[in-house]
Amino acid sequence: MSETHYDIVTVGGGLGGSSLAKAMSEQGQRVLVLERETNFRDRVRGEFMTPWGVAEAQSLGIYEIIRDNCGIDAPVSHLGFGPRDLPSTTPQQLPGLGFSHPEMQEVLLEAAKSAGAEVHRGVTVTGIRTGPTPAVTFQDENGDDQEVTGRFVVAADGRTSSARKWAGFEVKEAPQPFYFAGLLLKGVAAPEDEVYLLFLPHLGACTAMTPIGRGRFRTYVAYADNQGMRLQGEQNVLRFLSDAKRADLISQCFNKAEAIGPLASFRCGDFWVEHPYKDGVALVGDAGSTSDPAFGQGLATTVRDARVLRDCLLANDDWDAAGHAFATEHDRDSQVIRRVSHWFRALFLEQGVDADARRARAMPLIAQDETRVPDHLFSGPNLPADDSVRRRFFGEE
Ligand SMILES: Cc1cc2nc3c(=O)[nH]c(=O)nc-3n(C[C@H](O)[C@H](O)[C@H](O)COP(=O)(O)OP(=O)(O)OC[C@H]3O[C@@H](n4cnc5c(N)ncnc54)[C@H](O)[C@@H]3O)c2cc1C
Repeated sequence: MSETHYDIVTVGGGLGGSSLAKAMSEQGQRVLVLERETNFRDRVRGEFMTPWGVAEAQSLGIYEIIRDNCGIDAPVSHLGFGPRDLPSTTPQQLPGLGFSHPEMQEVLLEAAKSAGAEVHRGVTVTGIRTGPTPAVTFQDENGDDQEVTGRFVVAADGRTSSARKWAGFEVKEAPQPFYFAGLLLKGVAAPEDEVYLLFLPHLGACTAMTPIGRGRFRTYVAYADNQGMRLQGEQNVLRFLSDAKRADLISQCFNKAEAIGPLASFRCGDFWVEHPYKDGVALVGDAGSTSDPAFGQGLATTVRDARVLRDCLLANDDWDAAGHAFATEHDRDSQVIRRVSHWFRALFLEQGVDADARRARAMPLIAQDETRVPDHLFSGPNLPADDSVRRRFFGEE
């Protein structure tokens, strides 16, 4: 590597790191991306981007790149109230986007490279030194220790981010009593442009399914953690399919379904950093906040982070001030996403006498008027999320 100083160094080349690298390289900034993997594999991650995320992806110039290379538009959604046409019913007037996550990572890293970013793969970042000129240390492809400096460092190393610890951020957490499992399938008898998010409140579970193109469907099952069971590995594929089939609307789809990827499950919880910027280091995407299950908003949050950070850095030559402006905006969105996701879990997933009472009050009203369900999942965190919205959802006005 000839250069050792860059405008921006990103730790990680996932959706967050690569889309920011592409956007800032296009503006003439010298960007270095440090990515550990030489080949992206199926890690069981997000593959449905909701319309408010698609709007952010459009603004970053990555929507068509993803759709045309490894994705598919999903204009119709099902939450159990009949099909919904997303382009005519969301403020963004856009469809959702399904895609293969590992293919998306390859495509966006190539796009970042074409825009002028320097991309190093097979390198593992091992530390960050914060300060006016932050430094990043890493092991290169040969196992040798290297150091680069940046005017600004972006930590985009995912949900188990080490970078946020090295940079001294405190991680807040609120564990949730659920697991979220995912599996890639082929042979599913379902339309290739429809996405499903179907709650089974009496079981404390939900099934979600999104097409990702070329006849493949990512299917997820969320389930309560009190069953003493982990949906993981080949031996649990049949159990996963039988749990997915409990959602009546799609129960017949899986009769000829075949697993074409690993089955993995994740413990749910909210993990976040308040004000994810300090001393030259910003946290983007899952490194800054995850809320599971947030029912398909992690990708949207990640691309919004990249878009907001780009806009803040371009608007202000003082990048320390720009970092703080980004963090303030991130906090507002992240609080709304956590609050609304909590409402969804309380009404649609939680078990027990109190949860049953909540449902007895709310569900008949929702059945009469589905607009009582807050639309933040599809329309984004700019919608109002105050107590009057909560009371209307819970039928407490
Ligand atoms: C089961 C599951 C289902 C989900 N479903 C959805 C969904 O349907 N819709 C949705 O919107 N969101 C979903 N999400 C969330 C979504 O996948 C994430 O929000 C999104 O992938 C975050 O992108 P990122 O770039 O921040 O992190 P990542 O995609 O994790 O990328 C981080 C990158 O950093 C690299 N890296 C890590 N450490 C280092 C290091 N030390 N050195 C160098 N490189 C490093 C990694 O190799 C990786 O490429 C889901 C998540 C899970 C777990």
